[in-house]
Amino acid sequence: LDPTADHFSQEELDIERALRPVSFDDFTGQESVLENLQIFVQAANMRNEALDHTLFHGPPGLGKTTLAHILANELGVGIKVTSGPVLDKPGDLAGLLTNLEERDVLFIDEIHRLSPVVEEYLYSAMEDYKIDIMIESGPNARSVQLNLNPFTLIGATTRSGLLTAPMRARFGIQSRLEYYNTELLSTIVERSAEILKVPITQEAAIEIAGRSRGTPRISNALLRRIRDFAQIKGNGKIDLDISRFGLKALNVDTHGLDEMDNKILMTIIDKFKGGPVGISTLATAVSESAETIEEVYEPFLIQQGFIMRTPRGREVTELAYKHLGRIKGGTQPG
Ligand code: ADP
Repeated sequence: LDPTADHFSQEELDIERALRPVSFDDFTGQESVLENLQIFVQAANMRNEALDHTLFHGPPGLGKTTLAHILANELGVGIKVTSGPVLDKPGDLAGLLTNLEERDVLFIDEIHRLSPVVEEYLYSAMEDYKIDIMIESGPNARSVQLNLNPFTLIGATTRSGLLTAPMRARFGIQSRLEYYNTELLSTIVERSAEILKVPITQEAAIEIAGRSRGTPRISNALLRRIRDFAQIKGNGKIDLDISRFGLKALNVDTHGLDEMDNKILMTIIDKFKGGPVGISTLATAVSESAETIEEVYEPFLIQQGFIMRTPRGREVTELAYKHLGRIKGGTQPG
């Protein structure tokens, strides 16, 4: 259930793929983003041109990869998938780029983690569809220019602020994905349940949705676990009772906050008197990187009103005290 985990088992990956929407019509939420994308795709298709380079930013599990695949599908083109940390040398990138057919999509996940040389190499590919490659070695080594097919680079990043300015400037389309509300997530849960062929009541779908940290990936993961509870402890059908039973057994709290969310709130209250506390001090106290706190945890805690960002650092709100059953300024247990 860890939204930051990047090691999933093959089975988990297969199920995730099966649950992934494949067309604009399949995709729930992010309405304004989708409306614009539909227009850009339609226009690119009419002109038979490659779609402009597109950047998706937002917390993990909100649908960036899904949208990249949907765009390729709606453009009627192929897609090649890679990620920033995997592209070590310009040569790795050259191999991918030269194999792209006209209008194809190259998807680079975690694009903020490209090495500077690879990033620079990408610039001319994006701008003029040209790259330089070195041929031969030693005294005969020389670089030749290769023309590429027009293509679309789709980049995904958890925070656009982590991208260099020249990189960001090369994306004609930039979309920010937001957390989903409970209603949208319950639609996603019902759709996934249908694909998994497990009956679910509307109340149960809403219950699971409300505890998903605003994130479809977590909704789907919870649904799969609750399905197990329904199968073993219930009658195979997911209703409100078995959902609550399962969510309790999984230690998912009523707001859908996970262990690290709660640890962050508790630490600010117990160790820093509710804040303000600087991000790096907080990071050390909870043994997590400042980057991950800023990209993964904090946005949701702020959106839900548990934390405020002030010029002097992070402060918890009244709601955080209430949620953890603490009294502001009171003697804290532990
Ligand atoms: P990201 O790339 O932003 O980390 P993904 O695109 O991998 O997120 O989405 C994670 C999973 O959540 C996908 O496998 C998909 O099943 C589901 N998902 C994401 N967004 C939606 C959506 N809008 N509707 C339905 N399912 C979604």
